[in-house]
Amino acid sequence: MRHPEIRSRVRAFLEQHILPNEAQLIAEDARREAVTLRRLQALARADGLWVPHLPVELGGLGLGVVGMCELFREMGRSLLGPRVFNCDAPDQGNMDLLLRVASAPLRERWLRPLVDGEITSAFAMTEPAPGAGADPSNLRTTAVREGDTWVLDGHKWYTTGGADAAFLIVMARTSADDRTGATLFIVDRSAPGVELVREIPTFGPALLQHREAELRFHGVRLDDQAVLGRVGEGFRLAQARLVPARLSHCMRWLGLADRALGMCRAYLGERRSFGRLLGDHQLIQKMLADNATAIHAGNLMTWHCAELLEAERTSEARVYSSMAKNHVAGTLCKVLDDAIQMHGGLGYSDDLPFGTWYRSARAARIADGPDEVHTMVIAREVLKGTVDLLV
Ligand SMILES: Cc1cc2nc3c(=O)[nH]c(=O)nc-3n(C[C@H](O)[C@H](O)[C@H](O)COP(=O)(O)OP(=O)(O)OC[C@H]3O[C@@H](n4cnc5c(N)ncnc54)[C@H](O)[C@@H]3O)c2cc1C
Repeated sequence: MRHPEIRSRVRAFLEQHILPNEAQLIAEDARREAVTLRRLQALARADGLWVPHLPVELGGLGLGVVGMCELFREMGRSLLGPRVFNCDAPDQGNMDLLLRVASAPLRERWLRPLVDGEITSAFAMTEPAPGAGADPSNLRTTAVREGDTWVLDGHKWYTTGGADAAFLIVMARTSADDRTGATLFIVDRSAPGVELVREIPTFGPALLQHREAELRFHGVRLDDQAVLGRVGEGFRLAQARLVPARLSHCMRWLGLADRALGMCRAYLGERRSFGRLLGDHQLIQKMLADNATAIHAGNLMTWHCAELLEAERTSEARVYSSMAKNHVAGTLCKVLDDAIQMHGGLGYSDDLPFGTWYRSARAARIADGPDEVHTMVIAREVLKGTVDLLV
């Protein structure tokens, strides 16, 4: 543990301010209000816990990727936690990307207000079939050079937070090349030609930024300033964004899984059946032990990958991030499913949050690459003999 003091401050903040306000935050958010959210964000800022993942010069705590692990696990105990500290997806991944590759004017225009919590952002890669999905090379959105501008046309969906975002990072095809055919553009959400088709109703709860937008681009005109990184770097930069972004998801998911397990522990210690406490039944103990072990394993996998990323061993980290993502996403779904089971009818009711959490968690096995794609990546590297499993 590198930052026990900050970690316990985040935990205390969560317990004191966020958990008691969860219902209020959800109710206000459903009305598209943010009074309580703004109040808690101001408190987080005053406590020096705002954007802690960022470097000190941007107002963060400069804790590195491993430090993020410690804090994001705590924030992730609530679906609403990360947003209070301005560390939620997709903004957090977008901040990291802008920090690394955006020009000074782009940073000034978009990164600064994003860090200050004045605006939100979105990342638009996925398209409805037959476009980019699990396989990004199916990309069909195009940016075509006309004189000194780019003209963007295409159709995206599952752009998380896209309806409310001030800007979108859009992946578009700029050539037919398999490796260098994509470019990332920063697009003003209110630019002429950007159409919000709808917010997609989904299985998951529409909470804060976690609303899925479908968007169309009709001849959106962009200048060279809108190019993020360089022309042709889109696939590479998307990977560079996604590896740490999916790891930060793992961190948050571990926090939620741990909270659910804690709730099970409490119930199993008080509810009796067939003459003994639920926690004294071996079938229950097996569920509990398996889930505790899976959370711990996921924590170590995430931690290891975070250390690689922090040491800038990014290409080496990729396969471990796939392992961590599959393992932790599966673990979260299993822990929540078992938590419902162990709580019986109470677990299935909306008196407890497991249903909401489970509906949110189910997306973990699809978003940022479905299980099968990560399995394919892991198998490919194992077949090549490049993976050291006993690190
Ligand atoms: C809640 C949520 C939020 C999201 N947020 C964003 C976002 O902000 N920005 C964004 O760009 N995208 C986002 N996505 C999209 C997400 O990244 C894609 O859904 C994902 O990459 C899968 O693409 P697809 O949905 O097109 O599935 P498809 O490509 O149609 O694949 C369907 C299924 O086929 C199987 N499959 C695919 N490839 C293989 C293979 N090689 N081997 C075996 N089976 C395979 C998998 O089971 C997969 O789930 C989000 C998705 C969800 C659910």
